[in-house]
Amino acid sequence: MSRGYSNLELSLTTGKRGSRYQHVETLLCELVGAESALVVNNNAAAVLLALETIAKGREVIVSRGQLVEIGGSFRIPDIMHRSGAKLVEVGTTNRTHYTDYQDAINPETGLLLKVHCSNYRIIGFTSEVSHVDLVRLGAQHGLPVMEDLGSGCLIDLSSFGLAKEPTVQEVVASGVDIVTFSGDKLLGGPQAGIIVGKRACIDQIKSNPLNRAVRIDKLTLAALEAVLRLYLDEDQAMREIPTLAMIATPDEVVRKRAERLLQQCTASIAGPNVFSVVPTSSRVGGGALPEQNLASWALAVAVPPELIKISLVERKLRQAPVPVMGRMEADRLLFDLRTIGDDELDALVVSLRFALCLESD
Ligand SMILES: *Cc1c(COP(=O)(O)O)cnc(C)c1O
Repeated sequence: MSRGYSNLELSLTTGKRGSRYQHVETLLCELVGAESALVVNNNAAAVLLALETIAKGREVIVSRGQLVEIGGSFRIPDIMHRSGAKLVEVGTTNRTHYTDYQDAINPETGLLLKVHCSNYRIIGFTSEVSHVDLVRLGAQHGLPVMEDLGSGCLIDLSSFGLAKEPTVQEVVASGVDIVTFSGDKLLGGPQAGIIVGKRACIDQIKSNPLNRAVRIDKLTLAALEAVLRLYLDEDQAMREIPTLAMIATPDEVVRKRAERLLQQCTASIAGPNVFSVVPTSSRVGGGALPEQNLASWALAVAVPPELIKISLVERKLRQAPVPVMGRMEADRLLFDLRTIGDDELDALVVSLRFALCLESD
């Protein structure tokens, strides 16, 4: 795609100018069951663009429990303000009811919005309104419903020990008009923002001039298309998309890999006083599934502090020809084998040897 010609905005069927979204739109619609789709630079842009198109100058109703801040100072209230929409908070931090939304609806209302709590959880005495109920309420008042799913996953990962999250397909099937999600969180693809939903809304968003300012590049588009194609076969997606393959790797396979790395390290660097295999837990990152851990195994590196400081080992590893980031826990450096491939073990051993050689740098 980067070296040759492409038909980015050319329809090969008609020979006329086409849309850059054609390459992924059909695929996305097939995968999630939506009428229409478009993709932009990232999900932050997707949310801004959708709000600006649908709700500029109108009121948008959101639960107080869903006023998220994600990294990089993306805050729902701020993004709402920038879009020209007016935020109307309803409910409380822990509980928001159907009647809270219902009571807030007035002639100025333009949208009902639901936001995924991507990086925190409210536990205890809680309640929120399901997308099914919001869709029902929206329909009664002729109001569109939008859900910012944040991570957005196409596969139910609950059989791998993670909590059940609604898939994009389920949210679309419930009748939500606009669903936005990231290309590079649980989806496992390149940085992108994906917007799927009802044709009327998506067409409006496509023709918003702001869309040009956040449009997706052809290389990203090609990468996204390749990743989405993998999802046509769920088993293939689980095997070939690294994020998903790491989540799905059984504990036992991770432990065997850790044992193999331990053997390599003790054979070529130092003894069991330095290296050991320890149980640990992996956290699914990327602001996707907060407070959820997967049981895993790690190689632990411990060194006598009078010989070499573990912080020096950590720094030298980052500066090795093949840089490696470990996780400091107490006075040990841990390497979680869930996220280290079999084909990466040799390189890791070389970097560890580099970092542990006792001459100072
Ligand atoms: C991550 C996230 C975003 C922003 O997505 P990017 O693709 O990182 O721009 C927006 N909303 C929610 C709820 C998120 O979790």
